[in-house]
Amino acid sequence: MFSQKAADALLVTSLPNIQYLTGFSGSAGALLVTASQATLVTDSRYTIQAREELAGSGVRAEIARKGLLAATASLLGRPQGKLRLGFDPGQVTVAQKAALDKAIGSRVRWVDAGGLVERLRAVKERQELATMREAALLISAVFSIVLPKIHVGLSELQISAEIEYEMKKRGASGPSFDTIVASGRRSALPHARATSKLLSEKELVVLDQGAILRGYCSDMTRTVFLGRAPARVRQMYEAVREAQEAAKAAVMPGITAGAVDRAARQALTRRGFGRFFTHSTGHGLGMEVHEIPRLGKGDASMLEEGMVITIEPGVYVEGLGGIRIEDDVVVTSRGGVDLTNATREFLEL
Ligand code: ZN
Ligand code: ZN
Repeated sequence: MFSQKAADALLVTSLPNIQYLTGFSGSAGALLVTASQATLVTDSRYTIQAREELAGSGVRAEIARKGLLAATASLLGRPQGKLRLGFDPGQVTVAQKAALDKAIGSRVRWVDAGGLVERLRAVKERQELATMREAALLISAVFSIVLPKIHVGLSELQISAEIEYEMKKRGASGPSFDTIVASGRRSALPHARATSKLLSEKELVVLDQGAILRGYCSDMTRTVFLGRAPARVRQMYEAVREAQEAAKAAVMPGITAGAVDRAARQALTRRGFGRFFTHSTGHGLGMEVHEIPRLGKGDASMLEEGMVITIEPGVYVEGLGGIRIEDDVVVTSRGGVDLTNATREFLEL
C-alpha cells in the first residue's frame, strides 16, 4: 500500500478512510499500518463492534485506555533511529501532531502521505459499484414517489422531510447531505438549504437529494416548475440538459476531469448561458458525497475506469431562479454509464 522506502508506518485518522481499509464504522479510531501489521486503535464503546467488523480483515483491534493518540504513540514505541511516519496533513490536526511528537519524541519524521487512501477509494470495485447503483436507483425511486406530492403551499422543509422519510423507509441509513429544496428566487442559490418558505405559483424548485445505502452515497438533482413555465425558463432548462448530455458524452477513461467540465461549459456558452454557470460540473462520489476527482475548470486529473462521478451543470439567474440537473455516472471502458434513472424531462407541476 505504501512504499517502505518512503515511510516506516502510516497513520490514518480519517474515519471514511479507516472504514474503507478495515470495515470499521465507529466514530472514533486511528489506524496504524506498518510493514508487518495493521492496528486499529479505538475506545471501549467499540470493543464489540470493532471485533465484529474487523473479523477476517487481518487488522488487529486495540482498545485505548487513555486516549487514541497515547495508545497510538505507545504502539510506535521508542524507535531506535528516525521513524518515518506517513500522515495526511489534511486530516491530522496541529494538536494531534504535537501530541504525537511529544509522546514519541524527536525521532518522528513526518512524511506527507496526503490523498493516498482517497486515490484508492476513487476507483470502485465491483461490489462497491453494485451498492452505488442501488443507492442511485433508491434516490431515483424516492424522487418519483415524492414528485406527485409537491404542490403550492407546502414548505421546502416539508418536502425535504418527505424525501428523507421515503429514503429511510427504503433502507437508506440517512441522507448523503442535508436535502436541498430551494424554490423561487432561492433556487438561484446553488447550495441553499431547505427553509420554511412556502412554494408558490410560477416558481422553479431545485431538489438536490442523496441517500446513503450500506455506506455509499448517491447524489441527484432535479428541477421542476410550479405551473406553466415561460419560454425563457424552458430555454434555460433545455440548455442545462444539453450541457449535461455533452459532459456525459465526454466521459471516457484517460480524459481529464477538466475536459468534461469544458464540454458542459461550452454547451451552455453556445446557448448564451455560460456566465450563469458558476460552479464546477461535478465531483467524485463514494463513501463521501464529495470525493476526488473534482470536475472543475482546467482540472488535470485523469478519469479512470471504475470511478463514479456526478455530472451536474446548472444555470443560476438572480431574481429569476436556478436550474440544475445532476446524475451519478460510472466511468466504464465504453464511456460514462448513468446510475441515476429518474426522468430528466422538464416537469411542469
Ligand atoms: Zn447534489
Ligand atoms: Zn453533487
